[in-house]
Amino acid sequence: MNARKLPWREDCTPYRVWVSEVMLQQTQAVVVIPYFHRWMQKFPVIESLALASKEEVLKMWEGLGYYSRALRLYEGAQWLVRNRNGNLPETRKSLEEIPGIGPYTAGAILSFAFKKKAAAIDGNVLRVLTRFYAIEDCISKLLTHRRVGELLDVHLERRSPFVTMEALIELGALHCKKEPECHLCPIKKGCKAFALGKVSEFPKRKKRDKIVKLTRIALIYQYKDLFLVHRVEGARVMSGLYEFYSSEKIDSLPKRAYPLDKVVHSYTKYRVTISPYLCPLQHKMNLSGYKWLDQESLLKLPFSAGHRKILLSLLDFLSSSS
Ligand code: SF4
Repeated sequence: MNARKLPWREDCTPYRVWVSEVMLQQTQAVVVIPYFHRWMQKFPVIESLALASKEEVLKMWEGLGYYSRALRLYEGAQWLVRNRNGNLPETRKSLEEIPGIGPYTAGAILSFAFKKKAAAIDGNVLRVLTRFYAIEDCISKLLTHRRVGELLDVHLERRSPFVTMEALIELGALHCKKEPECHLCPIKKGCKAFALGKVSEFPKRKKRDKIVKLTRIALIYQYKDLFLVHRVEGARVMSGLYEFYSSEKIDSLPKRAYPLDKVVHSYTKYRVTISPYLCPLQHKMNLSGYKWLDQESLLKLPFSAGHRKILLSLLDFLSSSS
């Protein structure tokens, strides 16, 4: 089998599979690899993750996006320590009881770590099988996932389930991609979409939401070598992450406000352009929920993706002007 050499496949423990699968949601393997290594160094076992602070967890995830994934892993690890001595169980039912573990991740842990017959239907598998069987239903429907699951079960019965599961994921990642390489595909003889000459029409998807463009202004207040930041609270997407002061619009800029490079940041259907200004102050001011920190402390904090770019641009600016 021409499987890719990936770090989570080398020492295939249930915890490593779990972490890798959560990181791989919405993110390509090549991007995940360095994050996976760093994570495993910092949190080598479930207990070390459970005992970490929320800030440490978010810092390790910084830049990977969709931070709720990191928090779900964290919550799951704490639950496992409280309820199962820090061990991942070997049945689908018990795995799905763990906060943050859904059918796909449970299937992946059972298949890859415990080598059991279990369907793990990710985007790759969905793409391959909806093309192979020319399934007309929309890929985002639960019904389609169920149908693919049933078809997959038949394949898993026939051969070594773990090998078949991994082979399908690899086929999706390496050949049956968005732009498929059917000439290299080992199963093209049986592929209905290929036989119909309609590969580009599968999988069927609903129309994407229109991109919503937003603009924000960020004011980086500076007093001597300190900068004003706050931690986003509540149930917002950025909850637990740090940001500088920012607003959709402000009436007027402070007297001393030096523009830094604009930052563009996208998440879900939003594309946000942030215009940051460095605003040195003569006197220290207090703003509820905000704190003053030096550069070294800022670097240790987890920032939201947009404000992390602002922080890096600020550090560049400060080092070039010192
Ligand atoms: S023949 Fe093409 S479309 Fe069909 S499974 Fe292979 S790569 Fe995918």
